[in-house]
Amino acid sequence: MGLLVVGSIALDDIKTPFGQIVNALGGSSTYIALAASYFTKPIHLVGVVGDDFSKRHIEMFKKYDIDLEGLQIIKGEKTFRWSGRYHYDLNVRDTISTKLNVFQNFDPIIPDKSRKDRFVLLGNIDPVLQLNVLKQLINPMFTICDTMNFWIERKRNDLLKVMEKLDVFIINDSEARLLSDEPNLIKSAKIIREMGPKYLVIKKGENGAILFSDNVVFYAPAYPLEDVRDPTGAGDSFAGGFGGYLHKTQDLSLENLKRAVIYGSTMASLCVEKFGTKGIENLSSSQIYARFLEFKELSRFEDNTSGLKT
Ligand code: AMP
Repeated sequence: MGLLVVGSIALDDIKTPFGQIVNALGGSSTYIALAASYFTKPIHLVGVVGDDFSKRHIEMFKKYDIDLEGLQIIKGEKTFRWSGRYHYDLNVRDTISTKLNVFQNFDPIIPDKSRKDRFVLLGNIDPVLQLNVLKQLINPMFTICDTMNFWIERKRNDLLKVMEKLDVFIINDSEARLLSDEPNLIKSAKIIREMGPKYLVIKKGENGAILFSDNVVFYAPAYPLEDVRDPTGAGDSFAGGFGGYLHKTQDLSLENLKRAVIYGSTMASLCVEKFGTKGIENLSSSQIYARFLEFKELSRFEDNTSGLKT
């Protein structure tokens, strides 16, 4: 059975202090599916685009063996568009515009074969759509979901309904504070987990990611990258690496979830090195594994202090 990925497919205009791109392939499910495709198969992508979406982009999904039976192409309508600008502190970004376009009337129809998928990755889209997707699934075993401030502010009650059904909820630190109304991240995580999800991952941009479960807090270190060009899609690439690895291994133990967090961080760190999706294109498994091992090395140390005994 496959990994079901539902989210936005977008055309992005992005400006960072290091350059800009326009009309670039983007969207939460694009980054998720691409990142996950290095780990597992089949990936069933469900989403919507307009007839302005280029064949080149469709070919790109096919190149990564991503199944497009659930992709709707709406004649006479425009693809979702997002435009953002990053500050010198790349953890800070302004959304310049969000044009929902095809998403305004989107009815996600999950193809029969994907309704049986046991692993589901809900990328950042309207929580009403995320709920709609969950209702169509026959017996999901593991549900991972991402969101963003846009939906926390506009559709909080719907998001709370989604959260009741989740195994893993992934958000960044500012979104966690917004959702919980609590500045301390540890307290914030507790509040958010009480809203439903069994596990919570809080991404801290350049500063790593934290996995929370009952009595366990696991920190994935930040990768010391010298060249960060475009942070767009880092969170989604994280979700794709995380979910793709779990789907591949079918092991939902806490120890394996920790490895998944490192694979998620690995994909996010590769993503931000180039503009748009370029950082997660044409990677080899050895490149990904090498970065994974570097992450492992970052937090390994030997204790020869004998507990400070003199
Ligand atoms: P991230 O940098 O991980 O937050 O994801 C960036 C991607 O999210 C971009 O490619 C955008 O097209 C997409 N995106 C931005 N805003 C929204 C939104 N409100 N709903 C769905 N997708 C969005």
